[in-house]
Amino acid sequence: MQIKQYDVVVVGGGIHGAGVLQAAAAAGYSALLIERAGLASGTSSRSSKLIHGGLRYLESGQFALVRESLRERAIHLRIAAELVELKPFFIPVYRDTRRRPWQLKVGLWMYALLGGFDASTRFGTVARSEWSSLDGLKTQGLEAVIRYYDAQTDDALLTRAVVQSALSLGAELAMPASFTGATLTEDGVTVVYNQGGSTVETSARVLVNAAGPWAPHVGGAVEPPIPIPDVDLVQGAHIVLPFSVTAGIYYVESPTDGRAVFVMPWHGATLIGTTETPYRGEPDKVHPLPAEEEYLLAVARHYFPAFKHLTREDITQRFAGLRVLPAATQAAFDRSRETIFSADREPKPRVLGIYGGKLTGWRAAAAHVLERISTSLPTRPRRAATDQLILRRPV
Ligand SMILES: Cc1cc2nc3c(=O)[nH]c(=O)nc-3n(C[C@H](O)[C@H](O)[C@H](O)COP(=O)(O)OP(=O)(O)OC[C@H]3O[C@@H](n4cnc5c(N)ncnc54)[C@H](O)[C@@H]3O)c2cc1C
Repeated sequence: MQIKQYDVVVVGGGIHGAGVLQAAAAAGYSALLIERAGLASGTSSRSSKLIHGGLRYLESGQFALVRESLRERAIHLRIAAELVELKPFFIPVYRDTRRRPWQLKVGLWMYALLGGFDASTRFGTVARSEWSSLDGLKTQGLEAVIRYYDAQTDDALLTRAVVQSALSLGAELAMPASFTGATLTEDGVTVVYNQGGSTVETSARVLVNAAGPWAPHVGGAVEPPIPIPDVDLVQGAHIVLPFSVTAGIYYVESPTDGRAVFVMPWHGATLIGTTETPYRGEPDKVHPLPAEEEYLLAVARHYFPAFKHLTREDITQRFAGLRVLPAATQAAFDRSRETIFSADREPKPRVLGIYGGKLTGWRAAAAHVLERISTSLPTRPRRAATDQLILRRPV
């Protein structure tokens, strides 16, 4: 039997796999995406759903990441206007808040600088006379409320929209289909996956491993063995509560440990997240822990007095996802959020793995992948540029 040949085969239908599929198709390559369960069924439906520069990454000096993320945010607002919305963010500062108003303003000034001082990087203070419009936010001890702007999306819809764009450029999708292994050849890879109970063999010039928290497992199924970066999985939980904040997104310090937590409007309810809990189990089994739910409920109760009596019984939805971070001993909060790209060899990689990264940075990550693998691919006529392709809300 003759096996089908692709320029690029991608494993994983999260935002990164979707992005690489679209970038490969836009660059004129034949491309196949293999997804085991459903598009965005992994981390890409369990994020905080922010397309943001990452204000807090300034504190850990990740300026290049913030600059790139703000650039990507601006691109999203242009090409994905149906899916990404600029929203006001409020940072309440109380007498005992760790970050003082002047520190926040210095941070926001740097944020604006890295964002090229465009209109969306404006920030200021909410007048005391307007505090009553802030969804019942606690005013006892409140000294100032800082307002700035960042963007919110629906991560799963965004992922589907990117795949839809890739398919419209001629890319192919095998789903549900599970990657089971790959063998390196002199100038490519033989890829094996299971679809509908049958084993399918195909060949690719390059295999892109975009399996998120499953990436070490997918990389481990390549023969002969390839390098796998040393990473840790860190769980982040969210809860949904049946009251609605409408004025914007609140960026608050957890009353438990001072970590930054978001309180966000979400489909007429409120989404609160997230946590950072080291995870050592199977990625499939991740779920919010009772202690994480209590931690997030404590935020709602502390900042919104009307919700003082909410308990875990009131949670209407809960989910947890896994961050892939470079292995280290320091707290997850302080670790680099830069994406790790790992090739089996340089130049002319046959396998390229994407480890970690941000929802916001999917397009830039995909562009980087295409650049890295271009030495392994023939020249083809380009079909489109991904920063110009309009992303439509999937039907
Ligand atoms: C709690 C949390 C909050 C976050 N919040 C934000 C945020 O607000 N903004 C932001 O920019 N970023 C955020 N991130 C980061 C962002 O969500 C992730 O970087 C991104 O979703 C990762 O996407 P991915 O495609 O790499 O992985 P995933 O979305 O996990 O996709 C991997 C896919 O691979 C598939 N797969 C696995 N094994 C196989 C196999 N053998 N065969 C076929 N398919 C397979 C899985 O089914 C899955 O669909 C957050 C992350 C977490 C954990």
